[in-house]
Amino acid sequence: PLFADLGLSESLMRAVEEMGYRHPTPIQAQAIPFVLMGRDVLGVAQTGTGKTASFTLPLLDILSGSRARARMPRSLILEPTRELALQVAENFVQYGKYLKLTHALLIGGESMAEQREALMRGVDVLIATPGRLLDLFERGGLLLTQTSTLVIDEADRMLDMGFIPDVERIVSLLSPNRQTLFFSATMAPEIRRLADTFLSNPKEITV
Ligand code: AMP
Repeated sequence: PLFADLGLSESLMRAVEEMGYRHPTPIQAQAIPFVLMGRDVLGVAQTGTGKTASFTLPLLDILSGSRARARMPRSLILEPTRELALQVAENFVQYGKYLKLTHALLIGGESMAEQREALMRGVDVLIATPGRLLDLFERGGLLLTQTSTLVIDEADRMLDMGFIPDVERIVSLLSPNRQTLFFSATMAPEIRRLADTFLSNPKEITV
């Protein structure tokens, strides 16, 4: 398969070419068209499979194609660790270099005041760990009313780290009409149960 056949915009294709990617990985080839169609996706894939681009690229495409109203976060990407959140933010910057989208990184161990300032300036995408996101939400200053796409990445690690109650609370703050992308390296029964509650009619992809 070719990147050019996946339906991504020219600006994104240019960034992808500059990254030196020649072909989409299997998870990218299978997930990207469905994300662009607005479908929920359940991806069973490990780190190293190109999973990050499989959700970052189509989300950037969706966001760049629709007008932001007052720069409120329209996408939320949840990661279990700050390191993973940082990696996703790096990808976001690289793939989005020809788009005018902004993001905030909401992770522990960094200044809460700076993160609140970033939110006040207005951002299109939140890349967050669950605990810090809830902290900021509970202190006010974080509005999720425009958040229409949600990514739950590394769900099995979220489970291992005891983050599922936080994730459930965050999901309950979002519109039921959202688009949800859910990734996990494994599909244990508890993960399957979570996927069933968070996703509606997902396209299931295993690589
Ligand atoms: P990930 O599974 O998202 O952690 O990605 C693993 C690594 O593969 C990262 O270093 C990416 O930059 C790289 N990568 C992602 N997609 C592609 C692709 N289509 N071709 C070559 N490398 C890729």
